[in-house]
Amino acid sequence: MGFTTPGKPVDVGVEFPELAGLARTTVRLHPWQGSVTARESSLGGPLLWPAEEAWPVCTIDHPDSRPLTSVRGQRLERRRDELGTKVNDLARAGEHDAVGVFYRELKELEAAIRELRRTEFADDPAASLPMVPVAQFYARDVPELPFPEGSDVCQVLWCPTDHEPHYGPRPVVRWRDSASVTAVGAAVEPDPVLSAEESLPVPCRVWPERVVEFPHWRDLPSDEVRERVAVWEKEREWSYSEHLSVAPGSKVGGWVSWVQDPFWPECDRGHRMDHLLTVATGEWGDESWRTWMPLEERAGTEFVKQVRFALADGSTTSAKIGLDEQFDATRTFFGRAVAPETVTERVIPGDDAQPGRLDLMIGDVGDLYLFVCPTCPDRPTAVEAQWG
Ligand SMILES: [Zn+2]
Ligand SMILES: [Zn+2]
Repeated sequence: MGFTTPGKPVDVGVEFPELAGLARTTVRLHPWQGSVTARESSLGGPLLWPAEEAWPVCTIDHPDSRPLTSVRGQRLERRRDELGTKVNDLARAGEHDAVGVFYRELKELEAAIRELRRTEFADDPAASLPMVPVAQFYARDVPELPFPEGSDVCQVLWCPTDHEPHYGPRPVVRWRDSASVTAVGAAVEPDPVLSAEESLPVPCRVWPERVVEFPHWRDLPSDEVRERVAVWEKEREWSYSEHLSVAPGSKVGGWVSWVQDPFWPECDRGHRMDHLLTVATGEWGDESWRTWMPLEERAGTEFVKQVRFALADGSTTSAKIGLDEQFDATRTFFGRAVAPETVTERVIPGDDAQPGRLDLMIGDVGDLYLFVCPTCPDRPTAVEAQWG
């Protein structure tokens, strides 16, 4: 088994010679649910974790709405609630200078409450959540990764709840030497109550495939290039963003398929970081599937027609019908007639849940991106999560 991205209908490097030098190779991971061992590369599968090494836990303050129990704690929480109301009232009244003063006090109070919560709920499960395996790559499968000297396994775990500032799971990256692991330890099970179910990946085998990518629309070198691409697209059935440039889905290296604005982080020493890994909610979208859905998956997918149209009152809506069905533009929707000249059709995969995959939900159908500094020997990382 394996997965094959179809050949591109257009060679971007030929059509836009100024972009030829910006081509990068990404490793699409094509996660597919299945049994996998700690001695294999995977997404969401068991890690080659030394039995003698403590399983990682996240001790960052997790959301916890229970009131504090001490007298001091209750006093602080009352004051916080009063201040919160006051700040809102002042903001509504446009008293911005006054808001600033109280806002600072509010932030100090919240910090004091967090501090106290750590003492009062020190034994509470929320204070220390087991992290969960997200990815493991052996150098033999993904040699493109910047393995530090003496390591041949890259492991990613995350804390399966939302964390600031990106409001997604909080990842950590470990590099290790597989030869140094003699006894493999079992993972600590995630907390069943406090872990967000949508952040618990289903174990998947990976089927690495190298494909060439071009920069995301917003990573293009200039407005002039974007303008040229936009003019070119008008005459064609292919979209640069959806079909020709950056691979959607879970992948290692290459360009980033940003959902929002590009955010290329720097390490503390000022080096620009590289894209390490994208963990995606979906492997393709309703439009991008046309060039990015693997041929093998296409064979087992049922397609439908998505019909979009305006109604007599100007609102737009859509309906799904079978591939061999004709859309009946004379029928009414919510009692309103269809404007026949507005009807457009396109073919989309009928099942958008993408069964068999990681079964994650990053934010609202988003992606989580990990970055790594390839220059610093300890390989510092950064994280960003985006959704529409
Ligand atoms: Zn955490
Ligand atoms: Zn660095």
